[in-house]
Amino acid sequence: MRVSTGRANQSDSRMFHVVVEGFGIGQQRQAERVFTVPFSQLQSTIQTIARQGGVITGVFAIDGSSGNGADPTPAPAAETAAAGEAPTPATAPAVTKAPAHATPHAAVPVNTYKPKTPFLGTVTENYSLVGEGAIGRVNHITFDLAGGEPQLEYVEGQSIGIIPEGTDANGKPHKLRLYSIASTRHGDNMAAHTVSLCVRQLEYEQDGETIKGVCSSYLCDIEPGAKVKITGPVGKEMLLPEDEEANVIMLATGTGIAPMRAYLRRMFEPAERDKNGWQFRGKAWLFMGVPKTPNLLYDADFEHYLKEYPDHFRYTKAISREQQNAKGGRMYIQDRVLEHADEIFTLIEDPKTHAYMCGLKGMEPGIDEAMTAAAAAKGLDWSELRPALKKAGRWHVETY
Ligand code: NAP
Repeated sequence: MRVSTGRANQSDSRMFHVVVEGFGIGQQRQAERVFTVPFSQLQSTIQTIARQGGVITGVFAIDGSSGNGADPTPAPAAETAAAGEAPTPATAPAVTKAPAHATPHAAVPVNTYKPKTPFLGTVTENYSLVGEGAIGRVNHITFDLAGGEPQLEYVEGQSIGIIPEGTDANGKPHKLRLYSIASTRHGDNMAAHTVSLCVRQLEYEQDGETIKGVCSSYLCDIEPGAKVKITGPVGKEMLLPEDEEANVIMLATGTGIAPMRAYLRRMFEPAERDKNGWQFRGKAWLFMGVPKTPNLLYDADFEHYLKEYPDHFRYTKAISREQQNAKGGRMYIQDRVLEHADEIFTLIEDPKTHAYMCGLKGMEPGIDEAMTAAAAAKGLDWSELRPALKKAGRWHVETY
């Protein structure tokens, strides 16, 4: 969505263009349309459009001021919304469409291998990703997929299923567990037939006993050479945009870094750039939350990308048990988002920007809160904008 409200000004007589897709009846739904509304009616118009199933792809102040990178050119033939009622446009105006942002989903492989007939991958490596003094175990595990008939292929942002060996308490084979893929489609060895995961060994207390996760323990303990039942790939929620000039905001907690590691390799790893024919030129900003410094995952790689691509990569860490937020509590990524909310929001105003969230479900309300404050400062309502971004395919969430 393009969002440009220009200067923050609450007692406002400005007019806005609201660019909408999928709104109206019949052929109208296929056209991109623009409504002109005064600031006082902006929120109610957005609400009305959303209620009636329209997707808002842009909001522009007509005075020509634009947020960073937002399209400063308002549409010429705009439609006017009457106060407090659903806008009733006459004709579809000529408006430059937002740049293509979605990977063609039809081309993405899914369910090449199903639970009843999984692929048998071979473990090629399994090493710890955390340093001394870290909380818990987190490992990077790679499987060889060579020789598959058909070959198991995947793209960045997808997941695979793992079926652990053995049976459950009822004597039945274990069910599969899904893990986000941490490698690019070329695999860590660039040979295009491996897949890597980033796995934390799950541990929790039950009735005074420490229980360890079945599949995560199986994977963290597995030896190279072992055969593992693999299914998938699955998932189209976390795909990268095709646009090489896209901006990508990444919000990760712990092993939620897995897809982000794949994105960042695709963007900045020299061998990847040589091979993938996709030369990222946008801005990538990673927010990473972990409990302690030794829990940072792939940190040396990210620091290296930062050094090599300072104009294209930003890396902001929230180390919850070492740093404090403004209220003196644990520093979570939503606190970092709040610190940078204005900049993030300005980036989000750019139609080329996608945001990805992966990791703990608990971070979602905090991030919404931070975005609500930033949106309000610009006279906008995040509770309306977030679903619009989602519908526009620019707000990607995979949390557990
Ligand atoms: P972790 O290393 O324990 O780190 C999680 C970080 O998030 C810690 O700093 C933690 O802080 C912080 N945190 C806790 N509550 C939070 C909240 N409400 N808001 C924001 N931050 C919060 O993480 P993990 O054990 O790897 O967990 C990652 C999650 O990602 C798991 O739920 C996992 O299922 C999910 N996930 C995994 C994959 C995968 O493929 N492996 C993919 C997607 C999602 P404190 O502990 O200090 O409070």
